[in-house]
Amino acid sequence: MARTPDTPAVARRREREKRTVSQMVAIHCAGHHQKEARTEKSYAGEALCPACKELDDYCVLHTERCRSMARKTSCEACGNHCYAPAQQARIREVMRYAGPRMMLHHPVAAVRHLMGK
Ligand SMILES: [Zn+2]
Repeated sequence: MARTPDTPAVARRREREKRTVSQMVAIHCAGHHQKEARTEKSYAGEALCPACKELDDYCVLHTERCRSMARKTSCEACGNHCYAPAQQARIREVMRYAGPRMMLHHPVAAVRHLMGK
């Protein structure tokens, strides 16, 4: 289903969120998977293994399609659970690992948003 066009502010937020989730997937991959396996490129341009690339694509696609971007405070708080259970479990795991590490060197607003803090 098509969503209504983003205002410029919402478009910026959506783009920032796509990059943030992608960076978090890359941090998790770097910490858990073999360096030699990281043959793919994430949405944010970092190296990923093929399995993590699949998750990255999934998250970016769902962020692109999210119709609650303008009003929701976080994915956790959103009533419209758009992630399939398997992907939701995987991204939760990624966020638990990458969230605290992201806080060190990336703007925290988008991370807080994604983690529902
Ligand atoms: Zn990986």
